[in-house]
Amino acid sequence: MLMREAGRITGNALREAGRAIEPGMTTGELDTVVRRYIEGQGAKPSFLGLYGFKGSACISINNQVIHGIPSKDVVIKSGDIVSVDVGACINGYHGDSAYTFACGDITPQAQRLLDTTRESLYLGIKQAVRGNRIGDIGYAIQKYVEARGYSVVREYTGHGVGASIHEDPSVPNYGTPHRGYRLEEGMVIAIEPMINAGTAGVRQLGDGWTVVTADGELSAHFEHTVAITADGPVILTMPDPI
Ligand code: MG
Ligand code: MG
Repeated sequence: MLMREAGRITGNALREAGRAIEPGMTTGELDTVVRRYIEGQGAKPSFLGLYGFKGSACISINNQVIHGIPSKDVVIKSGDIVSVDVGACINGYHGDSAYTFACGDITPQAQRLLDTTRESLYLGIKQAVRGNRIGDIGYAIQKYVEARGYSVVREYTGHGVGASIHEDPSVPNYGTPHRGYRLEEGMVIAIEPMINAGTAGVRQLGDGWTVVTADGELSAHFEHTVAITADGPVILTMPDPI
């Protein structure tokens, strides 16, 4: 399928970011790792210049939810959780994937948030089968994370992916079973739970990009681009096997 290559490069770029993260590095340096990998594959970073964004990855630390701007002035410390959101474009199609990495030793509370958010992504993906509806995905995610005491961010959602990185339909991380857009074979969507340790509220910083939790608590973000096929969901943004 045409989108596999974009997904593969996106997944690999994210893995490169995970390998590179270490205490003392800046988010600007981490962004360069992502950009070099994507460009080295002959692809383009989807986010660079998108709506005027100045990085190849969104890098959001601790209480930052999404859309953190990479910077030479932001240093990653041991104990931080670092959400990296990457997109790559090749052959006219995009991939979109995110992962929250632990830098050094993180608290058990932070680890539980990461584990829960990653697991919720896979529960959402399981529902990405033809005949299901968008609400089935959001419901599976919401039910799991709320049962574990966390909150689902409402203001930002997953989305369709294709020749543009953000397409219809919107894919919320909350929902009602059997409601919403019907999933059909051939659709490609990004499923991306953004989960807060505290309350669901978020606000945007004065930089016009960075979204943080309103209560200052931690937030995590995991995302895959998923194709709905006759054989069930296929994750397009898996990195290559090592
Ligand atoms: Mg993304
Ligand atoms: Mg996305």
